[in-house]
Order: sequence, then structure tokens, then C-alpha cells
Amino acid sequence: MGRDFVYVILGGGVAAGYAALEFSKRGISRGDLCIISEENVAPYERPALSKGFLFPEDPARLPSFHTCVGANEERLTPKWYKEHGIELVLGTRVKSADVRRKTLLTAAGETINYKILIIATGARALKLEEIGVNGSNAENVCYLRDLADAIRLVSVMQSCVGGNAVVTGGGFIGMECAAALIMNKINVTMVFPAAHCMDRLFTPKIASFYEDFYKSKGVKFIKGTVLSSFENDSSGKVKAVILQDGTRLPADMVMVGIGSRPNTSLFEGQLTLEKGGITVNGRMQTSNSSIYAVGDVATFPVKLFGDLRRLEHVDSARKSARHAVAAIMAPDKTGDFDYLPFFYSRTFTLSWQFYGDNVGQVVHYGDYSGKSFGAYWINKGKLVGSFLEGGTKEEYEAIAKVTRLQPVVAAIAELERKGVGFALSV
Ligand code: FAD
Ligand code: NDP
Repeated sequence: MGRDFVYVILGGGVAAGYAALEFSKRGISRGDLCIISEENVAPYERPALSKGFLFPEDPARLPSFHTCVGANEERLTPKWYKEHGIELVLGTRVKSADVRRKTLLTAAGETINYKILIIATGARALKLEEIGVNGSNAENVCYLRDLADAIRLVSVMQSCVGGNAVVTGGGFIGMECAAALIMNKINVTMVFPAAHCMDRLFTPKIASFYEDFYKSKGVKFIKGTVLSSFENDSSGKVKAVILQDGTRLPADMVMVGIGSRPNTSLFEGQLTLEKGGITVNGRMQTSNSSIYAVGDVATFPVKLFGDLRRLEHVDSARKSARHAVAAIMAPDKTGDFDYLPFFYSRTFTLSWQFYGDNVGQVVHYGDYSGKSFGAYWINKGKLVGSFLEGGTKEEYEAIAKVTRLQPVVAAIAELERKGVGFALSV
């Protein structure tokens, strides 16, 4: 019963698009591969949603950012999938999975059978209700995870020009959306619990550069407290935000970016899970040998640091997806995934990249009042992490290379003096 496929990709986001490209490059027969996605559109580059999509002028719109343009590869439009005999089952949620029978059941009641399954279900935005704040279903409270959220956010922003937005969360979404709100001529107050923005990655010194830059664009920061409730008008719209310290902030809209959770629930009790994600080996294979997991949902061994990690960034989604397909299609020629963690962001005229691990002693370098500066992290005598703002392509390549090499650092003062020049000289 049901439909049969050799390969099924569950989830239609970034990893799915890159896996499909890799399958087609390696050669599959028409009708072998199916992608099932809850979203109504073919896989796209999700990072565009908090950047170009939100621009007030000349915004990015599909089909321009379908995967795999983010890695300068072919753009896979719905026509491409058709031409390649890849079945796109869109607007369809899988509601249960049976790994013993190798079946998926969709919300529409259809059974889909696979020989090999790639789980690429990504993550979802954490809701305010899950941390004890009610009322986030009001029409002017926004989250941002998928295209539908982004379309809604654009419409809410358009109705708030000249008004006030409260951004809750000082992580990736908070920082990128605050910049977009300012570009859309909306006043922004950012509220987050930590002492500075991006506190899991940035040092206080790095964060203070970005906070000062944001302040120069008009953003206000309220740190060390969190949102505790909403005040609504008679139509149910939020009109003010009340913080835990009692502060009341008038708000025409609220943007929430308080973290995400991997979509693992279909497989809990059926596959091994660790660190919140589905555990895979260096071939991206789960505890069931017919099932692979990639992207945000996968907890994989990071060879370079000798531990298991789950990363929520686009580069690892792209590369882990391609690696899983390589391991499936060419098992004898594919070794273990050897990934260098890489995160980046672009807001206003700023742009930074980070490679590796942010543990150990930090060595800041460059001009923190200007626009080109960075940091290295030294752990147990070795360079393990590199951050650079405002670098050139060559400089970013150099910090990636040096981080992968993990050179022993004998003279901290020299590293500080040489700055990015150290990476360029290795
Ligand atoms: P996703 O791209 O999230 O795709 C998961 C897919 O699975 C979705 O289509 C979802 O609908 C589908 N799905 C889930 N459950 C089911 C189900 N039961 N049935 C059917 N379908 C299902 N990273 C960076 O490194 N740089 C950036 O600049 C950056 N910007 C970002 C901006 C935004 C707004 C967001 C939300 C994320 C951003 N990221 C960025 C993170 C990056 O986009 C993710 O790491 C990446 O999308 C993960 O890819 P994925 O395929 O694992 O998951
Ligand atoms: P992040 O984990 O980046 O940030 C969450 C933020 O919310 C942190 O500042 C966190 O503080 C804060 N927070 C936690 N609890 C509360 C609370 N009660 N009230 C207010 N703030 C709170 O998640 P995001 O939501 O920003 O991003 C979601 C996903 O999207 C992530 O996977 C991210 O990687 C991805 N993304 C990546 C981008 C990129 O790589 N450029 C861009 C946009 C999204 P604390 O750290 O102190 O706990």
C-alpha cells in the first residue's frame, strides 16, 4: 500500500535542496527520489528570509533564491525537479514514521514507503508560550522560520512604518531582524536576558562594537531582563510589552527570536538522540542503517574537536546533506564527514565570519573603532577559533584555513600584533 520510492527526503529546506542536487549529479533514475515538505514551495535558501527578503526596496523574492544559489550552484526551480524526475510533495506534513516498516504517513493519510530515508526536518522557532509568556498568537507578534512567516512579517512591518517594534532575543534572528526593521523605518528596542548581544558567540568586546553600531542606527538596548507579558488593545493586537523588571514599552509590533528546537519528534523512541538532535555517524547515518539525518536536526561527530555537535547553520546543512548522499551513492569512496564549523551574518553594511570553536583564551586584534577587526581563540596552546568583521574573500579563506590547521601559538602578543596577517602568513 502507498507509494514506493528508493530515496525519500523528509523536509524540504536547505539540506533537502542540496541533497537533491547531489543525487542528480551522481545519477539517479527518474522516479527514485521524493522530497516531502510541509512548505508550499521548493527548497530555498532560508538565510534570505532575514536579509534580502525584508529589504524595503528591491526585496529578494522566489524563485530567485531557490537552492542551490547560496553556494553558487544551479538554481533548482520546480521545473528542475520535474525535468529530473524528482517528485516534490509540497504542502504535506508527515505525521508519523515507522522505521521498522520503512514507512511515512502524511497528514493527508497517504503512506510513503522508502528504501533509504534522509531526515532533513530542520528546526522550528521556540514560542514565547514555551517559556511562560502567553499571547504570541496576536496578529502583530512575529516569528521568522519559513516563507509564510516572512511574508507575514513584511506585511506587519509595512503597517508599522514610523512606529515602535520590540525585538525579544539578542541572537541571530534578533540582530538580523532589528537591522531590517530599522531599514523599514521602524523604531527598535531590543530586549534580551544576557549582558550583551550574541552572548554565546561574541566576546563583550566584539558585542560592544555591534551594539554601538546598532545604537548609531537608532536601536535601543534593554539588557538583563526578559519580556513577561503583553498589553492588548480591544482588537487583540499587542499595544505594549511589559518586562520582568516592570518596564512598559509601547509596541506596534513584536519580533520574537528566542531560539529554535530541532524537529525530532517523529523519531523519538525509534532512533538514538543526543544533544537534542538525531545522532549520526561520520556518514550521517542514524542508529538505523537505512536512515540518514542532515542539517539542523543532526547531531554529528566533529572530527576536528573530537566531540558530537548539532549546528543550526546553513553551511553545515548544505555540506552534511551532500555528504550523506555521497555516503549513500558511493559508500566505498566516502570517508567520514570532516567539518569545520562556520557561522556568518550580514546586517547593515557589516559582515562577519566565524570558524571553529569559541573556547579558551581570546586574542582580539585590529581596529575596534573601525570596521576591520577580529579575534582568535586559543585552547590548550592551539588556535581553535577565528572571527573577522569586514574581511576580504582572501582574508576569510585564510582564517578558515588557519583554524582548520590549529597551529600551536607560542606568542600571544605577536598574534595580537599580526592580526589577520597571521592567518594570511600560514
Ligand atoms: P530547514 O531549512 O529548516 O528545512 C526543514 C524543512 O523540513 C522545512 O521545509 C520544514 O517545513 C520541513 N518539515 C519539518 N517537519 C516536517 C514534517 N513533519 N513533514 C514535512 N515537512 C517537514 N544560517 C547561516 O549559517 N547563515 C544565515 O545567514 C542564516 N540565516 C537564517 C535566517 C533565518 C530567518 C533562519 C530561520 C535561519 C537562518 N540560518 C542561517 C540557519 C539555516 O537557515 C538553517 O541552518 C538551515 O535552513 C537548516 O537546513 P535544514 O534543511 O536542516 O532545515
Ligand atoms: P539564537 O539561539 O541565536 O538566539 C536566541 C536569543 O534569545 C539569545 O540571545 C538568547 O539569550 C535569547 N533568549 C533566550 N531566552 C529568552 C527570553 N526569555 N527572552 C528574550 N530572549 C531570550 O536563536 P534565534 O532565535 O536568534 O535564531 C533561531 C535559529 O535561526 C537559530 O538556529 C539560528 O542559528 C538561525 N539563524 C541563523 C542566522 C545566521 O547564522 N546568520 C540568522 C538567523 C537565524 P541567551 O543566549 O542568553 O540564552
